[in-house]
Amino acid sequence: MTIREKIQQITDAQAMEMTEKYCTHNYHPLPVNLVRGEGIYVYDGAGKQYIDCIGSYSAVANGHLSKFIIDALKEQLDVVTLTSRAVYTSELALFLKTLCEFTDMDMICPMNTGAEAVETALKLARKWAYTVKGVPEDQAEILVGEENFHGRTITIVGFSTEAQYKKNFGPFTPGFKAIPFGDIEAIKNAITPNTAAILLEPIQAEGGILFPPDGYMAELRKLCTENKVLLIWDEIQTGFCRTGKRFAWQHEDAKPDMICLGKALGGGVFPVSAVAGVKEVMEVFVPGDHGSTFGGNPLGCVVALAAMQEMIDKDLEGNSHRLGRKLKEGLQALNHFAVEEVRGRGLLVGLEVREGIDTHKLSEEFLKLGVLTKETRSRTFRFAPPLVIDEAMIDEIIARVTTALNAVAPVLA
Ligand SMILES: *Cc1c(COP(=O)(O)O)cnc(C)c1O
Repeated sequence: MTIREKIQQITDAQAMEMTEKYCTHNYHPLPVNLVRGEGIYVYDGAGKQYIDCIGSYSAVANGHLSKFIIDALKEQLDVVTLTSRAVYTSELALFLKTLCEFTDMDMICPMNTGAEAVETALKLARKWAYTVKGVPEDQAEILVGEENFHGRTITIVGFSTEAQYKKNFGPFTPGFKAIPFGDIEAIKNAITPNTAAILLEPIQAEGGILFPPDGYMAELRKLCTENKVLLIWDEIQTGFCRTGKRFAWQHEDAKPDMICLGKALGGGVFPVSAVAGVKEVMEVFVPGDHGSTFGGNPLGCVVALAAMQEMIDKDLEGNSHRLGRKLKEGLQALNHFAVEEVRGRGLLVGLEVREGIDTHKLSEEFLKLGVLTKETRSRTFRFAPPLVIDEAMIDEIIARVTTALNAVAPVLA
């Protein structure tokens, strides 16, 4: 029997049971077993279709099984997949040049997962602080935002302000300070001569799709330049057209010194991440400073190249801008009394329900109606469908959300 045949024999119920038995319980999945994906849709074993509004946490921007990406991947599978960085490859060369052009940055450090990209940026910032800025050894400080989400390594959860992310995982890496997100005065007060960098998400997606005030990003850029502090945007979730621009910092004049990239860079196929940055910072790494066995592997490079190419060819940036606005305004126009607020930029939209609304029941209603969405923190349901979505499907999402909200609203009465 082939592997595929073995997988096809597993029922939805068996898949859930086996996963709960053999997997650590570090997630609480929706009670859905997906067996197939195509475009903006995913399907369970019974053949039920769902509109994928989770979009693998924004990692599936090009849609499930984008033909362009899968064709590129299949072609590469007959050539070479993994070499390590002990050698050069033409795939990596083209990936580096293309990603520099796509991000308008000078150099790249290729990694695999988002957390690794963040760790890489932190190492670069520290080494830059000691070797270029002149911060005394082991004194470098990095500022982060309260309610941040940057991944799950010990260093990263160490500067999280979410109690559960840290509880029982200490001791943590020193040298980080969390300041209120969106408060420029707080940053001014926190900067010292030893501040190496400020690491922030342009929009706090996991935190509940939270926006800083208008003008904040641009002011931050100015402040960083004036104080010789590096500005690092974590665009792992907001990047690659998700917010209606290639990168969320482009909504203001806020070009960073480094950008952390991941998720959608992998084309919805597998993990590809990177730090893109300016030469002055990126060139502090010398051989032996940092590395990754799979980072920059030829297969990942090809997948990322195809993902970026398709984003440009299909104008996913324009699509995200236009249809994101339609989705946000459509949900706002419901004026539904179960809804506290609808926030969003591009196809990253959060629907916050009022306190007292049964979010568990709402979740069930969404599933029943074939809408895959999950709560972030603070009663906010995430709508981040693949960017290849069309106008009719946005209308369909709004219609189904209306039905789901109507089903739970009576609990208020
Ligand atoms: C998902 C995410 C990460 C972590 O990426 P992983 O690939 O899960 O390690 C980091 N930062 C942000 C903003 C994210 O959304």
